[in-house]
Amino acid sequence: MFDFDTTKLGVIGYPLKHSLSPLIHNNAIEKLGLNYQYQPLEIKPGNFDTSINGLKIMKIKGFNVTIPYKEQIIGYLHNMSKEVEVIGAVNTVVNNDGKLIGYNTDVTGIKVTLERFGEELSNSGIIVLGAGGASRAVIYSLIEHFNVSKIHLFNRTVEKAEKLKGQFSEKLNFKEISCYNFDEKRIADVLSRAKLVVNTTPVGMYPDVNESPINHYKLFKKDKIYFDLIYNPLKTNFLKKAERTGAAGINGLKMFVGQAAESFKLWTGKEFPIEESELLIKNKFIDS
Ligand code: NAP
Repeated sequence: MFDFDTTKLGVIGYPLKHSLSPLIHNNAIEKLGLNYQYQPLEIKPGNFDTSINGLKIMKIKGFNVTIPYKEQIIGYLHNMSKEVEVIGAVNTVVNNDGKLIGYNTDVTGIKVTLERFGEELSNSGIIVLGAGGASRAVIYSLIEHFNVSKIHLFNRTVEKAEKLKGQFSEKLNFKEISCYNFDEKRIADVLSRAKLVVNTTPVGMYPDVNESPINHYKLFKKDKIYFDLIYNPLKTNFLKKAERTGAAGINGLKMFVGQAAESFKLWTGKEFPIEESELLIKNKFIDS
């Protein structure tokens, strides 16, 4: 239920029909007995400026930002976290009396996901597939929280990877990124120098569940860790191939709930029900 005192939260993006954020945030609000409400706020391209001003007038306390507005929102911020300055993408906004502050809580989602592999990742080489917004959050987290020594970055559009490399060199003084065209032979060449392979492309996501960003059996080795940011399906073709060799496979569920938990804390100051949220999403996939 809501009343005149209900604090408003939400997610902006387009389209939003499949977003699972309202489900887990409203569950957390209910569980903690807070007078908040989290709504999907679909904004059609072309209406962005008016909509953001409208949200400020409505005194929304905060909102998540998803595709295609993670970069566009930066022009409306009064302040931003260090993560946003480096990554150039926002997934969470806090509204402080009309002043919008931008954060990227995907970085925390990645940190909590990979924490248990911390020792193995320290001073290791990493293969990252894809160079979009999520890739930048992965690379930031790996450099800042896991002290990795080298990143091999593969992207369909190599120019985008080169741009990313320039950003990290300039803003974090991290010079150990090598960029390549997306090519399985070249991935095979560097695999022995990497501990972790991360898929940050949407390849393999529902409904294209039979696809995988890499396919050759030589690219899947028992002594590597494979992390797919996708959580729908929970076990992608990429992870199935990895697990068949006995390697560790991690999906994007913990990252998704981890970023939500950090956003929730920024808005409410409260702890998020992590396990319950993960279970809610798992059950949702089983039911649908
Ligand atoms: P994005 O900014 O659009 O970047 C997508 C990247 O994937 C680009 O580098 C793109 O290459 C590459 N790509 C797209 N289609 C490809 C294909 N068919 N073959 C090879 N490469 C391809 O998207 P994003 O925001 O980074 O999101 C990427 C993925 O991460 C999505 O699946 C998203 O659901 C997932 N994600 C998960 C979480 C989580 O909490 N678990 C959070 C954020 C994102 P080009 O540069 O050549 O276009």
